[in-house]
Formats: sequence, structure tokens, C-alpha cells
Amino acid sequence: MQTMTQLDPLRRTVDALRVDGPVALVPTMGALHEGHLSLVRAAKTHAAHVAVSIFINPRQFGANEDLDKYPRQLAADSALLEAEGVSLLWAPEPTLMYPQGYATNVAVSGVSEGLCGTARPGHFDGVATVVCKLFNQVRPDLALFGEKDWQQLAVIRRMARDLDLTLPHAEAIIGVPTVREADGLALSSRNAYLSAEQRAAAAELPRAMRWAAERIARGAGVEPTLREAEQSLLAGGFDRIDYIALCDAQSLAPLTALGGNAARLLVAARIGATRLIDNIPV
Ligand code: AMP
Repeated sequence: MQTMTQLDPLRRTVDALRVDGPVALVPTMGALHEGHLSLVRAAKTHAAHVAVSIFINPRQFGANEDLDKYPRQLAADSALLEAEGVSLLWAPEPTLMYPQGYATNVAVSGVSEGLCGTARPGHFDGVATVVCKLFNQVRPDLALFGEKDWQQLAVIRRMARDLDLTLPHAEAIIGVPTVREADGLALSSRNAYLSAEQRAAAAELPRAMRWAAERIARGAGVEPTLREAEQSLLAGGFDRIDYIALCDAQSLAPLTALGGNAARLLVAARIGATRLIDNIPV
């Protein structure tokens, strides 16, 4: 695995790798776990070479969020990627990503609004901006993202379509199912913030979500079911529910009842200072 921190050698290396076939990009913020590795494994089924980026993107963190304490473990991450047969690790410094005088923002309206867009103003501008830059830097043929961050996936697909990104274009953005712990909790770098007691309580999130999704699928009213799930999260140890919503899976428009299109249940909730998100199909 080659580790690159400068743009010119990165591009030369990707061009050389592409001789063997398609190059896939898996963008991450590091602190890698099995969820990230499942993206790498999925990438290998689509591409001749896998490139992974590790960049903790300051522009997607709000002023009072966890940028400073976000786990940083490049050496351990690098060893994991090497063992997975990743060809290239792109690990730019913040000054390369956002040099002095940097002034450009990518804002995707519609799918960025509501849900995490309401709870974390500016977050999806930061995500869209950095992913657009990563695509232009690495120029992969395809890119993979986790369904765990369902709204993020929708934002990136919309951006790729709207900006006519050819590498990768919207159809070359692949969503990968969420990897979970045995008790159902979605793997997340932020799970490391949880105490043992909070970690036990966190399992209520997938439980409440599954309960609500099954009830709604069997015809129960959406609003009362979501309110009941919210109460069970609060009773189970969560301190605050940012949202629990049934949405159109593609447009993310809120739904008050199931219709013809695919629907998704999305939740964001906090235990202490830790914010967890999750989603499942309904
Ligand atoms: P992050 O490092 O948190 O920005 O995540 C990098 C990528 O890994 C994103 O596309 C996430 O959606 C994906 N990801 C994070 N957690 C999981 C998980 N539990 N299962 C599958 N993909 C995940």
C-alpha cells in the first residue's frame, strides 16, 4: 500500500493503477472499524484497486462538536488497510485540503435540509465540499459510502448528478449496508465515546427502530408509533432525541403514511454528549 499526502504523486499513482482496471475510492475520517472495512471489501468486488482516504474534515463539524476529540489513529488504520489489500491511502493535511484563502462551498439543497441538516447546520455543506474535492483529487471511477449515513449518501448522489461529476457519476456511487454489533448497534467511530453503561443503553436505538419499522409496516399509525419509540429511547437511557422520522427513501421527504415508494426510518439521538444515528428500511 502506498501512502500519499501530496496531490501530484497521488494523481500519478492513480493513473498508473487505472491501467489494471477501475479504481474505487472509500472516503473515511479514520478510526477504522468493521463498517469501514466492509466498504473496502465491497469496493474490491467492483474495482481492480481500492483507494481509501482518511481526512478528518473540519468543515463538517459544528462549533460545539467533537472535532478536537475525534479519534486519530493513522498508524493503526494504515495497518488495517494494508491487511485488506488496499492499494493507496490518501491522507492529506488540512492545509492541503483548505489552503490559505480557501473560499468555495458546495451546498446541496433539498436532501441536505431536515433531519441531520436541521440538527447540524452546515454539516452537509462540509460533507459535499470535501467529497467533491476528494473526487477531484483522487479521480476514482467509483466511490462507496455506508448506508449508515443514509442522508449523506443521498446528498452525495444528488451532488454527483447536479454537478455532472463524471468520476464518479451518480450511478457509480455505491451504498453499502450497515455493519452492526451483535446487539444491533451500528458500528461507529463515535461508539468509543460511550461508557459501559451508555454502551448498554445504546442498544435501545436499533431495538426501538426495528420495533417502530415493524409496527408501521403492519399498518400502525406513523405518528403515534414514532412517539412511542421516542419514549422508549428516553426510558432506555437516551437523553435527547434529535429526530425520529419516516421518510421517502430517495427524496427524504417526511411521510405520515406508507405509500408506493420505498420508505426509510431515520433516527438521531444523544446519550450524554454522544450523538448516534441509524436508519433502516420500512
Ligand atoms: P466516517 O469515517 O464515519 O466518515 O465513515 C466513512 C464511511 O464509512 C461512510 O461512508 C460511512 O457511512 C461508512 N460507515 C460508517 N459506519 C458504518 C457501518 N457501521 N457500516 C457500514 N458503513 C459504515
